[in-house]
Amino acid sequence: MSLLVQKFGGTSIGTVEKIEAVAEKICDARKRGDDIAIVVSAMSGETNRLIALANGIQKNPSSREMDVLVSTGEQVTIALLCMALHKRGCAAKSYIGSQVRILTDSAHSKARIEAIDSHRMEQDLDEGKVIVVAGFQGVDERGNITTLGRGGSDTTAVALAAALKADECQIYTDVDGVYTTDPRVVKNARRLDHITFEEMLEMASQGSKVLQIRAVEFAGKYKIPLRVLSSFKEGPGTLITLEDDDNMEKPVVSGIAFNRDEAKLTVRGIPDVPGSAARILGAVGRANIEVDVIVQNVAQDKTASLTFTVHRDEMKNAEVVLNKVAMELGATSVEADANIAKLALVGVGMRSHAGVAATMFSTLGRENINIQMISTSEIKITVVIAEDFLDLAVRSLHSVFELDDDARPLK
Ligand code: ADP
Ligand code: ASP
Ligand code: MG
Repeated sequence: MSLLVQKFGGTSIGTVEKIEAVAEKICDARKRGDDIAIVVSAMSGETNRLIALANGIQKNPSSREMDVLVSTGEQVTIALLCMALHKRGCAAKSYIGSQVRILTDSAHSKARIEAIDSHRMEQDLDEGKVIVVAGFQGVDERGNITTLGRGGSDTTAVALAAALKADECQIYTDVDGVYTTDPRVVKNARRLDHITFEEMLEMASQGSKVLQIRAVEFAGKYKIPLRVLSSFKEGPGTLITLEDDDNMEKPVVSGIAFNRDEAKLTVRGIPDVPGSAARILGAVGRANIEVDVIVQNVAQDKTASLTFTVHRDEMKNAEVVLNKVAMELGATSVEADANIAKLALVGVGMRSHAGVAATMFSTLGRENINIQMISTSEIKITVVIAEDFLDLAVRSLHSVFELDDDARPLK
């Protein structure tokens, strides 16, 4: 008998009929003898609907009240799922985050889990109940409701699996595993049987929203076996593994991640003296704006230009900060561009293979796609390009690196 944590995302429980189907699936697993803890998201579209309601009243509502509001979506689904389980004769009990006591810090809308009190849940599991926990939410030590960031139910599930020492954390969603790239963009993307934590972390942080980044980080840190599966179709899904035993057999590139959420800012004509970059990025940091890819160049005239990307929602704020600091530094101009996208090739196989960047750049060149920024790590190569060319870039690279479903993997 094993203890499983199963998480069902918004599309898996988007209607009452789907909630009934999920209940059926849980009852079957229960009948096989497994102990089960469930984490659910809100019904698909609900969190966005709640955010839109708030924005109809105020442009920048209080972050505390926002969390009170958006956490309600998950309270609806835990209750409905428990009812569907009861109807099938399956004992089940719902918990919102504060009832479990998922203790977080107080960073509203991006809170981090600090501790989970598992004793009540363990009692229920011992009594043979299925426990159904609201994802995405917690409570800080002063009793304020907090949320964990968009897609945060994945993190709740992994954290619960760690607290309960579960045998596996299963993320049920609308795709039957992790693919070589988003199957919505490349129709013949290939499902991966397994992917390493390291690769999955890069895929998630470069834009593959199939798993929230923090969930992958957490699972890697606490060595929780993590699997992505379909709610609608039987199959083994994708196992996120610690080590890759047959590293030699790995394709050089395991997957392509991308993201349209960023914007690019450039400061030109910066006096090329020590401390300039620190002053610029320091000012951006103090405004609480996260910076992603950074590139600096020094021209022949001994002035530097600094380019970096931020979340698109932060572009206007960043521009205001930069105009001020540019004036103080004597830089000549500030430019902002929202029409960009980031794309990354990811693969642990890159460690032992040269030439991946050259193939990537020549493929983009052949398609007449201009590379605006480049950034690399041991297992990934990221480029920033114009957003209009993103789909073309992803498809071409997917095919060149033999990731298409009908292609043989590169050795
Ligand atoms: P849920 O509501 O279940 O949390 P999400 O929408 O957050 O589901 O995540 C599933 C979606 O992630 C898929 O529908 C797919 O379009 C997208 N996705 C992006 N990259 C990948 C990838 N590499 N493999 C699988 N799915 C991906
Ligand atoms: N309901 C939240 C969201 O839409 C959390 C989640 O789905 O994981 O982001
Ligand atoms: Mg999700």
